[in-house]
Amino acid sequence: MGAGPAALCIASELIQQGLEVSALASHSPKEPWPNTYGIWAEELESLGMASLLGHRWKNTVSYFGHGKDEEGAIPTSHDFDYGLFDQAAFQKSLLDRCENLDWAIETAENIVFVGKITEVLCSSGKKYRARIVIDASGHRSPFICCRS
Ligand SMILES: Cc1cc2nc3c(=O)[nH]c(=O)nc-3n(C[C@H](O)[C@H](O)[C@H](O)COP(=O)(O)OP(=O)(O)OC[C@H]3O[C@@H](n4cnc5c(N)ncnc54)[C@H](O)[C@@H]3O)c2cc1C
Repeated sequence: MGAGPAALCIASELIQQGLEVSALASHSPKEPWPNTYGIWAEELESLGMASLLGHRWKNTVSYFGHGKDEEGAIPTSHDFDYGLFDQAAFQKSLLDRCENLDWAIETAENIVFVGKITEVLCSSGKKYRARIVIDASGHRSPFICCRS
């Protein structure tokens, strides 16, 4: 469930493993992502994905306390480059790995366990059934509850 970076990363990996995957999201997976993503460049290099950076900052430093305007502020050097994802390229690279993925454009309203199957109930009234449902609907997911 979802069409953000988490959903596309997970779906693309599962497809590459030969598993049967269906996807469900409230909008088209081709719709541009609204957020900007930054990451330490070395993390992407270790995954062979450095070409997905749109910008790369070298000699990165941090200032603590009141920041660099504080009198005598000392920069802490990271010795790591910081990168900005080329969002469109990142999204396309994941979608390319999800070729032939079956997408339902639906908004999930509830998730119900029925024996060994999980049902996703959508606002359209449709039900989708799967052995495992992965909720990648973002940090505001209504499907995560805290029990005391
Ligand atoms: C301005 C901004 C800047 C950010 N910058 C960074 C950054 O630099 N680095 C970083 O790591 N993180 C950053 N974040 C955090 C960012 O939100 C997450 O890292 C990232 O988007 C999480 O990806 P996700 O796939 O889990 O969720 P999301 O990107 O939120 O995707 C959720 C998906 O689920 C779908 N969905 C939601 N509810 C339902 C439903 N009920 N039924 C069906 N589909 C549903 C949505 O349509 C969407 O496709 C930033 C966030 C914001 C707002």
